[in-house]
Amino acid sequence: MLSPRAKAGDNVVTRPNEAPPHEFNPWLRVVSLIEEAGHLLGLPDDMIMRIVTPERILEVAVPVRMDDGEVRMFTGWRIQHDTSRGPGKGGIRFHPSVNADEIAALSADMSIKCAVVNIPYGGAKGGVRVDPATLSRAELERLTRRYAFSIAPMIGPDRDIPAPDINTDFQVMSWIMDTVSMLRGHNTPGVVTGKPLSIGGSLGHAGATSLGVTIVTTALLQRMGRMANEQRVVIQGYGKVGAPLVKLLSDRGMKVVGIADVRGAIHVPDGINPAAMAAHFAEAGTVVGFAGSETIDSDDLFSLPSDIAIPAALGGVITERVAQTMSASIMVEAANGPTTGEGAAILASRNVPVIPDVLANAGGVVASYFEWAQDLQGFMWEPELFQQRLEKTMSDAFNHIWKRHQELNVTLRETAIAVGVERIAEATEVRGLFP
Ligand code: GLU
Repeated sequence: MLSPRAKAGDNVVTRPNEAPPHEFNPWLRVVSLIEEAGHLLGLPDDMIMRIVTPERILEVAVPVRMDDGEVRMFTGWRIQHDTSRGPGKGGIRFHPSVNADEIAALSADMSIKCAVVNIPYGGAKGGVRVDPATLSRAELERLTRRYAFSIAPMIGPDRDIPAPDINTDFQVMSWIMDTVSMLRGHNTPGVVTGKPLSIGGSLGHAGATSLGVTIVTTALLQRMGRMANEQRVVIQGYGKVGAPLVKLLSDRGMKVVGIADVRGAIHVPDGINPAAMAAHFAEAGTVVGFAGSETIDSDDLFSLPSDIAIPAALGGVITERVAQTMSASIMVEAANGPTTGEGAAILASRNVPVIPDVLANAGGVVASYFEWAQDLQGFMWEPELFQQRLEKTMSDAFNHIWKRHQELNVTLRETAIAVGVERIAEATEVRGLFP
């Protein structure tokens, strides 16, 4: 049931719940996090209800003619969770496990994330339930364009601005931008971010999430009086976020000793050379088989001897069991929603500080904000300015969360969500209730 625990008849938003009840449901997790934050802040129940409930949910059928002439049907969603602070913002993912609950949860995460880094956006998210690895490039283009057409009434530079997420990239964004531009009859570069430079993308967008993860990780190490060059890191994921992270963290003296990708996991106790790994991956398409590495069971990645754990792939992976056996004494959530409620409780009881997704991976959406601002102005910035502003936005957000964390005396996650919810509540309150 995609519904906050609210009084029936008040605001109940029902959706078929596709996840079996025993499985981790990211929507229920985010609802309880927002509710807890609301109670911590002393917000009235009706305000909590207004913040939790998604504003707009669109489910679309996406029929696609396959290369062999057969028509296959896919399902897609776009959900705007909250737009009190600005237009909706959030990625689009193509993955076989996508469902309404997941997209709703991720859209709420985006509302909070944008508020945590204080950029003028609300939260949204979209996705299509599909395994893009099974599609040809032409099929992927047709699927993207049909999905873009179907959500077009809901998106736009001043409404809701999609971006890349799992299994989507600059090419998918280009097709969406083109489809919407064709529909509107004029160029609309500001309708999506994460575009190539030739059509209004921005230098610095690629790798921005990883840079943000690096900035907050370094800041936490400083607060804890720990030396970067004494840290061993394990990373789950070697994609858009994980791959640049290996280099950025290594450049700061950290040693990446373990990586997992969809094909398997490896252990390199002396640390992975980022350039050698990039070259190996380009050739092999997986981290497995990297020279000098030992192949390990993917389930054992987080129990490898390490100091910092970085999930940078899918959600719901840091379960109770993983949290219990995690070797690292710091976790940084580069992925969205990687930790279950039980996993988070174990890490808290073991005093493992966790930089939550809504802060840790916000570099991506901050970069999107800069790209969108440049598109709206039709004026492109120098790359140095982009970098400088990204670093300042992430450091300011970390410092603010850290300060509030000391004052509130709750976990970094609870603090970040409370800061986000507080800012959304302020905007909701001052705007009043229409009509
Ligand atoms: N998909 C990224 C995220 O989850 C970026 C979203 C955006 O730039 O809109 O934060």
